[in-house]
Amino acid sequence: IRLARVSALDEMGSALAHELIQPLTAIMLYLQAVGREFARAKEAQHSQEADERANAILDKARREAQRASAIVQRVRHLVEKRGPERKPVDFNAIVDDALDLVLIGQDRSRNVVRDFAADLPQVEVDPVQIQQVVVNLVRNAFEAIRQQDNAKVIVTTSLDDRHLLLSIEDNGPGIPHDRLADLFQAFKTGKRSGMGLGLAISRTIIQSHGGELLVDPGGDGRGARFVARLPLSGFDDRI
Ligand code: ADP
Repeated sequence: IRLARVSALDEMGSALAHELIQPLTAIMLYLQAVGREFARAKEAQHSQEADERANAILDKARREAQRASAIVQRVRHLVEKRGPERKPVDFNAIVDDALDLVLIGQDRSRNVVRDFAADLPQVEVDPVQIQQVVVNLVRNAFEAIRQQDNAKVIVTTSLDDRHLLLSIEDNGPGIPHDRLADLFQAFKTGKRSGMGLGLAISRTIIQSHGGELLVDPGGDGRGARFVARLPLSGFDDRI
């Protein structure tokens, strides 16, 4: 499970690097600007005014530095070697965070709709593993809508009587019938460069939380929809 996580991030590596270079470049430029402000103030002996301007620029630099470090921390968190760990979490928040991570480097026109239930109770899950499921399913959805006009991925959280439901739906071509039988089997892939591990691992993770990963394959103009159904209590612990 961890290896798959690392390899997914490895594939996202250049997008991540790009995302980090932006704030780091901004920081450099802001710091140069501060240097210039001071040099100019020294010449003109306007130190009060320069201090204020320099402080404002330093604030911007600080914010960019925080952004860069938040990205690094998020990635490190996902790659870290550690055992499975269940704890009560705000489910929407961890899904949101995982989405931000997959969206790094994706072009903006790609429309991700977050439709989160407001009244979710806290659930006891392994947050990193659940985020891995989100990353896997959303990356698959992105690949499915690559050629699509009006591409859309809808991520929903909701509740039924005894379950928390996480649904990821796209408006791609759906899953061909002949792929369905072994869709969740490891090393079965419909892509030239695919490993065929994403769905197998996602299902293992959801099952280890006592839940099920279901698929509505779509087709005939409908995209695929994956639903993770997690019981609100009584998770067992198989991994
Ligand atoms: P990989 O992405 O490495 O192929 P997965 O186990 O994640 O491995 O997916 C297996 C296959 O299922 C994919 O290769 C693809 O053919 C199909 N698939 C998964 N998600 C979707 C989707 N949202 N729409 C269409 N096909 C999908």
